[in-house]
Amino acid sequence: MLCKVFCACCNGLEVTTITVEVSVSIGIQYRLVGLPDSAIKESQQRIESALNCNGYRLPGKKLTINLAPANIRKEGSSFDVPLAIGILCASGQLEVDITPRLSKFIILGELALDGTLREIPGALPIIIHSKEQGFSSCILPRNSALEGAEIDGITIYGANNFMDVVNILSSPDSCKSFIVTPKSISNQTINSDEKSNYDFALVKGQHKAKRGLEIAAAGAHNIILSGSPGSGKTFMAKCLQSILPPLSKEESIETSKIYSVAGLLQMMTNNENRTGGLIRQRPFRSPHHTITVPALIGGGNKGMPGEISLAHNGVLFCDEFAEFDRRSIEVLRQPLEDGVVQISRVRSKNYYPARFMLVAAMNPCPCGHLYDGRGECRCSSSAISKYRAKVSGPVYDRIDINLIVKQVAASDIVFGEDSSAEPSRVIAERVKEARNLQLKRYSENNESFFTNAAISSSRLKEYCALKRNEELFMEAVINKYHISARGYTRILKIARTIADLAHSEPITINHLAEAVQFRCPDKDELY
Ligand SMILES: [Zn+2]
Repeated sequence: MLCKVFCACCNGLEVTTITVEVSVSIGIQYRLVGLPDSAIKESQQRIESALNCNGYRLPGKKLTINLAPANIRKEGSSFDVPLAIGILCASGQLEVDITPRLSKFIILGELALDGTLREIPGALPIIIHSKEQGFSSCILPRNSALEGAEIDGITIYGANNFMDVVNILSSPDSCKSFIVTPKSISNQTINSDEKSNYDFALVKGQHKAKRGLEIAAAGAHNIILSGSPGSGKTFMAKCLQSILPPLSKEESIETSKIYSVAGLLQMMTNNENRTGGLIRQRPFRSPHHTITVPALIGGGNKGMPGEISLAHNGVLFCDEFAEFDRRSIEVLRQPLEDGVVQISRVRSKNYYPARFMLVAAMNPCPCGHLYDGRGECRCSSSAISKYRAKVSGPVYDRIDINLIVKQVAASDIVFGEDSSAEPSRVIAERVKEARNLQLKRYSENNESFFTNAAISSSRLKEYCALKRNEELFMEAVINKYHISARGYTRILKIARTIADLAHSEPITINHLAEAVQFRCPDKDELY
């Protein structure tokens, strides 16, 4: 007898429906064909044990199992459950005939030896794919099923063990308790008294730096903070997280899919005091400067997403930017431009989205005290140039805002409550309004970008138009500071964001003047 069960596999974010065909005939053999990897080949032992523990058995006949389409490589242990169901069905061990129902289900899960279901990576993209392909239901291990709790238009069953799967398939109507819904997500109690460790209310002074970060957050501009050790640049960069605008549903799904494939979605939602569901906060990734290139951009044996993709729709914070391996800095160039990264593997290529805001912090010179103004810095100008050259020109070119964080007197940095400093939630409100303005403006005009930082050069004239007086002002600035054409477009984009923060449609001289400060804060010092 021949039986077909449907499941799916992820290759990067790309999901393919896989048909498991099981045929039972006379003889004794277990054959698995269709490009399975070693984890799938080993499934026989897990399946046999799980079946025995639940009162079934591997039939003592010739079993041929084909995973179609045969040209796609299948990896991982997620196929255990569909294989086991196919074997039971094809060998006629089930009381109820489930074959007509099987065509509507996508079934996945790894089996423990006693039949308990273990979670699988990539559940969220698989659920979305199943819905798009017209399947009515998915059966997944309970924890994996929770990833899709907020996706509507498909019934998702969360099963704890193999018998649950058999019962759901035999009688879906009596197994409604297995269906996961948004209510299945358990919200852990959040201690409302607990304040974030990183809040701008804790940073005294540093008005210019805070303003720069606010502008960066409002327009999604890449930003570099240079300043001496202890100037608070790392602390302020971490505060950025608290003022980022909320994720839209689409962005949330995009980012959550990447975490799902990496097997990190549950951990991430746990951080947000939930278990299951989608990510609701913009990610903030801060890789250490010793990170390897594959860990940064993705890759490795399994073509997993790297830090830049985990930072998609959020922030990639590179502290001690000049200490990163030069190759690591160099590989950021293409994703900064395209918002997507391609990972080449032995047999395939994976694409992951990687539209992140780059926030870099570094010392201005090898000793770090160049801007202290106390004459402590004895670095030679050639040593300073060499140090800065670690960050290549093309990467510098993608960074809109250059912020110099000056050392302030020790008494001025108060890591305690400061009544004069604005709390992050007030700043976050302004950022959110400015982002909404951009979203409205660019979606009304059917643009492919949604933030000021992403305005394409061909559309710059339209969205950053200057009046005559403003043009004259910029001409003077360009001549004075010898600003390049690229530098000029950066200034226009920053000015657009400053105008948006002020709810002003036209860009005025004031907006431009402030933008110039953030592009070339101290022209003579920095370059
Ligand atoms: Zn120095």
